[in-house]
Amino acid sequence: MRTRILPPDERGLAEAARILRQGGLVAFPTETVYGLGAVTDDPAAVARIFEAKGRPAHNPLIAHVGSLELAHRIAVFDRRAEALAARFWPGPLTLVLPLADRRLVVPAVTAGLATVAVRMPAHPVALALLRRLGRPLAAPSANRSGRTSPTTAAHVLADLEGRIEAVVDAGPCPVGVESTVVDLSEPERVLLLRPGGLARAAIEAVVGPLARPRAEEPPRSPGLVGRHYAPTKPLRLDVDEVGPDEGLLAFGARVPPGARVTLNLSPAGDLAEAARNLFRMLRELDAHPEVRAIAVVPIPAEGLGEAIRDRLRRAARTDTPAV
Ligand code: AMP
Ligand code: MG
Repeated sequence: MRTRILPPDERGLAEAARILRQGGLVAFPTETVYGLGAVTDDPAAVARIFEAKGRPAHNPLIAHVGSLELAHRIAVFDRRAEALAARFWPGPLTLVLPLADRRLVVPAVTAGLATVAVRMPAHPVALALLRRLGRPLAAPSANRSGRTSPTTAAHVLADLEGRIEAVVDAGPCPVGVESTVVDLSEPERVLLLRPGGLARAAIEAVVGPLARPRAEEPPRSPGLVGRHYAPTKPLRLDVDEVGPDEGLLAFGARVPPGARVTLNLSPAGDLAEAARNLFRMLRELDAHPEVRAIAVVPIPAEGLGEAIRDRLRRAARTDTPAV
């Protein structure tokens, strides 16, 4: 199979929708990263996502919707969920809620759980595709499992060329890190399962303090354990000195000298700009022939820094295999 590159216009989206309706796989841009789409009501189409990515079956997928009406058909919203959706959708926030209509979301999407993760993305191309289709799309990041997420169509092709029918190319993603995932399936607490493109403080302003799952609880988000987002070269975090065979990922004005290559996530120290550049720069250093290992300066933990630090920490893990 040759993977086709579709333009983000009327004809491209009509073709993308046609492929998806037939159970095919189409990667498309969202404001966070490129997603690998398949309709959520076709078990064979959903199975192909796991196969194309090499994703373990126990790692559930996010169902993307183009309308609140469709979101309400697949998930049960309480008052907290309504408030978050009203304030932040469309946008980079995923809500884990009790699953409603099981015919619209086959068990492989939720990994058999009684909950479903739902998001309405803000990217105009993603929204146009979802609204044209009128069905939810399961869409994990369009990369091979465990690897760095794609923020351009070229990144998608580098991992999935020949494994998927098409990619809609609309240029780089404006946020650059995946959505923030919160679990609202329990009435007494809101759990932060994954920091992401919507900062914690914005969510806490609507629903109060976010809890983190306790260490002794069984993992609620099996896909969130272990090494992930990983370049192939070794990664060293929070460095203040660099070796001559290292590629440096810098942030802000204080840049340690001596690296073979230096890329700066944001010379101005802007965390939104850093998030936008993160995965592209990791890929660039990973591909650089003179760089043996990647070193990263400390990134502040506030705002989108929480998501950036989370991705870097998990990319740097060496104790567990990629999942
Ligand atoms: P990705 O689509 O690769 O960005 O990953 C989505 C993440 O959302 C997965 O790794 C899951 O851990 C999490 N997720 C999806 N559905 C659920 C669910 N029903 N319960 C808990 N976590 C979920
Ligand atoms: Mg992913």
